[in-house]
Amino acid sequence: MHEVSIMAEIFDIISDTVEKHKLKKVNKVALQIGEFTCVEEGSLRFAFESFSKDTESEGAELVIHRVKATAKCERCEQIFKIAFTNKICPNCGIFSNNIVSGYELSLNEIEGDQYETNFS
Ligand SMILES: [Zn+2]
Repeated sequence: MHEVSIMAEIFDIISDTVEKHKLKKVNKVALQIGEFTCVEEGSLRFAFESFSKDTESEGAELVIHRVKATAKCERCEQIFKIAFTNKICPNCGIFSNNIVSGYELSLNEIEGDQYETNFS
């Protein structure tokens, strides 16, 4: 049920944006999700569909960008890809717990159509 509460928060932001920019329709919502985040993409898409039903976001495309997990080596300062089980710098062979990315979960982009304003 984790994904549902995430989507509830995302829809709070979407409805604020819809109101602020007077969107009549949301076409695209893009999320950025780190690969270490325990979020299941299928559940997220399912939650998106239920939340968007009968709203401006119904039928919108949900784009999910997966962010690779990386860490920065404390010795050589190289940023390298890591796995849960392997956080060793490929240069120096030392362990790094200095995680740079992989835990993000953010709303990147909302695209929509605005109401046409007719001043004539
Ligand atoms: Zn290193």
